[in-house]
Amino acid sequence: MILDATPVLGAERVVLGEACGRVAVEDVVSTRAVPAADNSAMDGFAVRGDDLARAPARLRIVGSAPAGSLLAGRVEAGTAAKIFTGSVIPEGADTVVRVEDTEQADDVVTVTVPVKLGANVRPRGEDIAPGATVLRAGTLVGPADVGVLASIGRATVSVRRRPRVAIVSTGAELVEIDETPGPAQVVNSNAWVLAAAVAQTGGLPIVLPIVRDRFEDIRARVEEAAGADVVLSTGGVSVGEFDFVRDALDAIGVERRFWKVAQKPGKPLTFGTLGSHLFFGLPGNPVSALVCFAVYVRPALRKLAGQVAIHHAVVSARLVSRVRKATNLTEFVRVHLARDGAGWAATPFAAQGSGVLSSLTAGAGLLVGPATMTELDSGAVYPVIVLDDSSFGTENPAFSS
Ligand code: AMP
Ligand code: MG
Repeated sequence: MILDATPVLGAERVVLGEACGRVAVEDVVSTRAVPAADNSAMDGFAVRGDDLARAPARLRIVGSAPAGSLLAGRVEAGTAAKIFTGSVIPEGADTVVRVEDTEQADDVVTVTVPVKLGANVRPRGEDIAPGATVLRAGTLVGPADVGVLASIGRATVSVRRRPRVAIVSTGAELVEIDETPGPAQVVNSNAWVLAAAVAQTGGLPIVLPIVRDRFEDIRARVEEAAGADVVLSTGGVSVGEFDFVRDALDAIGVERRFWKVAQKPGKPLTFGTLGSHLFFGLPGNPVSALVCFAVYVRPALRKLAGQVAIHHAVVSARLVSRVRKATNLTEFVRVHLARDGAGWAATPFAAQGSGVLSSLTAGAGLLVGPATMTELDSGAVYPVIVLDDSSFGTENPAFSS
C-alpha cells in the first residue's frame, strides 16, 4: 500500500561530486573518444611490427615520448622510440615492446623476444567510442560511472532529487539533547535516530522542534512539516488519551491509508497521503520507530529517489535459541547475525523491549517470526532482514586460499 502511494521524485542537475548513489535521469552520450589516441599500455619501445619479423631485431632509438607529450618525428623502418604507459603511439609505429623484453646499448635497442603486431597498444576509443551511451537513465550512479563521466568531461549530471523528510517528535516528556532530563523526562533520541537513518538512505532530514501532546500544537506542526516530501512523526499514534497525531493528520486533510499493523514492535504505525506527500505516524518507542523505518519508510524513500533495489537484504539464518513470540502478530525479533559455516546464525538479543535501542546496533538483523507461530524453535531457519552488514566483509577474498 505504501509503495503504491509513493511517487518517484523529479530531477535536478548536480555536480559530479554529488552524483554517486543517485539515480540518473538522462542518457549521457559521449562526444569524445577515450582514450583520445592510440596509446601504450606499457613502458617500452614503439616499433614497426614488420621490423620484428626476425628476432633478435636491432633498432635505432630516434627519440622519447613521455606520457603527456608527442614524439617529434616518425618511427621509420629500422627505428624505435622510447615510450611510456599512456604515451601516444608515435606516427609510423604500430606495436609496443615491453622494456623487459629489450636490451639497450647507447642509441640501439635489441628486441630479444618475438612480439605480435599491435601488441601493447590501447586503441583510440577502446573504453569509450564517440557516440557511445556511457550512462543510461535509471542507472544508480557508482564510482566507475562518475569516472566515465569525468573522463568525457561531463561535470554535471541530471539525477533524481533526494527526498526531503521532515521529522516531528511528539511527547510532553521529551527534552532536547542539550537539556538535562528530570526524572519524568526523556531526551528526544528518536529525532536523531531518524535523521541518521534518513541521511543514510540518501534523504535530506529536516528536524523540527519537539511538540507537546496538545492537538492544536501537533496540528500546527504537521501542517508546517507538510511541505516536505515525507513527514515522519514519532509518538502519540496509539490509543492513549494524549495520542493526537492521527486527529492532527486528519485535520490537515491527510488521507489515512491504514492505522495499526499486526506486528510487534510497531503495531500502532499509521500511514497516509496528502497529494504526493507521504505521512508516517511512527510509534514513540525508539525500537518500534526504527524497525518501522527499516521495514516501511526506507523502501519508500528509496523509491522516491528512483531506486529499484529498495529493500534490505534478507538472509536465511539458523536461530540459536528458542524464542517465545507474540500470538497473532508478525514479530520482528532483534537478532545478532554471525557467520555459521556457509550460512548464518541468528542470536536473539536478551532484551527485546521496544525501548531497548541497543538491540539494533552493529550486526543486527530482524528475524521475521510468522504471525501463526507462538514459539520459534532453536535450530530452525528463518528469514532475517539484514539491518547492518558491517560484519559481512571481514575477510579479504584476495588473500584467502
Ligand atoms: P508514545 O508512542 O508517545 O506512547 O511513546 C511511547 C514511548 O516512547 C514512551 O516511553 C516515550 O517516552 C518514548 N518516546 C516517545 N517519543 C520519543 C522520542 N522522540 N525519543 C525517545 N523516546 C521517545
Ligand atoms: Mg507520547
